Amino acid sequence: SQIPMPLALYGERKNSAGFEFGHRDNLERLMARIGQPFPEIAARPLVPGATGATSDEAVLSPADRTHKVGTVRNATPADVDRAFAAGRQGFALWSRTPVEERAATLDKLADLLEADRDRLLALLALEAGKTLDDGVAEIREAVDFCRYYAAQARKQFGEAEVMPGPTGELNRLSWRGRGVFACISPWNFPLAIFLGQVSAALVAGNAVIAKPAPQTPLIAFEAVKLFHKAGVPEDVLMLLPGAGDVGAAIVAHPKLAGIAFTGSTGTAQAINRALAAKDGPIVPLIAETGGLNAMIVDATALAEQVADDVVLSAFRSAGQRCSALRILYLQEDIADGMLEMIEGAARELNLGNPLEITTDIGPVIDEKQKAMLEAHIAEMKRSQKVRYAGKVPATGNFFAPHIVELDRPEALTKEIFGPVLHVVRWKAKALDQVIASIDATGYGLTLGVHSRIEATIRKVTEALDTGNIYVNRNMIGAVVGTQPFGGSGMSGTGFKAGGPAYLSRFAVEQVISVNT
Ligand code: NAD
Repeated sequence: SQIPMPLALYGERKNSAGFEFGHRDNLERLMARIGQPFPEIAARPLVPGATGATSDEAVLSPADRTHKVGTVRNATPADVDRAFAAGRQGFALWSRTPVEERAATLDKLADLLEADRDRLLALLALEAGKTLDDGVAEIREAVDFCRYYAAQARKQFGEAEVMPGPTGELNRLSWRGRGVFACISPWNFPLAIFLGQVSAALVAGNAVIAKPAPQTPLIAFEAVKLFHKAGVPEDVLMLLPGAGDVGAAIVAHPKLAGIAFTGSTGTAQAINRALAAKDGPIVPLIAETGGLNAMIVDATALAEQVADDVVLSAFRSAGQRCSALRILYLQEDIADGMLEMIEGAARELNLGNPLEITTDIGPVIDEKQKAMLEAHIAEMKRSQKVRYAGKVPATGNFFAPHIVELDRPEALTKEIFGPVLHVVRWKAKALDQVIASIDATGYGLTLGVHSRIEATIRKVTEALDTGNIYVNRNMIGAVVGTQPFGGSGMSGTGFKAGGPAYLSRFAVEQVISVNT
């Protein structure tokens, strides 16, 4: 079957309301249509017979902590047991449902997402602090995941493959779901990553227990309701809202068949240890984790393009992308001029309410994240040079773009998840050292290279096993089906999301050999 053209590559497209979707002035019209105030959402576990905790927790907007977007009733340990029991039943039927039917529910979900786009866009801004541009991109990515995995499933799981064999024997290889799969997701792409994991696990024939990040339960609740509306049975996809304790209870459950996890490297390592301590079946872990992403710029790079790409990669989305640029290696000869241009461009960025058309950067997700970033800058001030600090709005959970110059790359050894760009100068002829420093971090998610020397580009791409390398462009916004995404080493296990191999680990192969 044919793989659909990713929505993200179409550029402008007419939406159901008839106007072109994506330009800022169109977004203004869109906001007028959404209307305010946005109705509160009350999220709860979506599991047959689940009760949830005895009290609700308020979900507050990161841009304005006095704005209650909704409430969440978290899952209890008994709900976790209920979800596995229901999931085992759901799995029995769903795993035998023809692939075509399972894929059709994803295509239907893609249509529902497009039809519900205005509301989802508002919710992404209110609950996750996404700017309107980021929200549009995220909804497109979610739609692309649905259509891409539907097409891949038809191709990979549709027909049993007949293997070569001796006369009188028929050998057929087919794929089946693993059982009750857990999908554990982060808050930074609360729709696209959440839905990407879940749709892959479902279309491969699993029942799914989804555990969203505690910061973004409402969008997950709305997404699961759309899956149900698209035709996924309620005992095949279940939602368990809650924090790490709910995640840990799911991981520890004896009936767990597999995990798709996206989040920090530390949490993936904790899950890995918990799985290793379990008896019974060996449970596969698909982990997509953090990065300490670098960009190497040499003296032949086009300065204006570099400034644009650096600001976009390091500061947009408030640096809250796993792919975001964290450490910029500038060749010494051009460093001063480049830094001046980058600072000039950073100064132009507008921080503010994500629902405003003119906003470039929204808030950081919560107080904890903001405090972590403030502590990092305070620490950097003690030993390194903080050369730029932007301005923040008077209220809300904002953290301004910062530029920190490091005296050596080893001064930064862990991912700082926010709009902080670290810069290191390197001497011409010292490219090998730069490569060694990047390699030594142990991460391998994204890498940028700006150079017009073929040999330099080849050397860097051959030396490093970083998952996604971007040459002479920005390093964010991987497109489903075009730039399959995911890292190596401390950044993830593979297979790449939005790529042709992704569905494989969600299923098991079975070979039936018949003596004819
Ligand atoms: P996190 O690790 O804190 O949480 C991720 C999820 O794991 C949440 O749902 C959380 O509740 C759950 N969790 C926490 N402890 C658990 C435990 N012991 N057992 C089971 N589940 C547990 O990450 P976050 O702060 O939500 O997300 C930001 C991180 O995600 C960053 O490191 C970022 O780089 C990474 N990320 C990676 C990718 C990728 O594709 N590689 C994409 C997006 C985000």
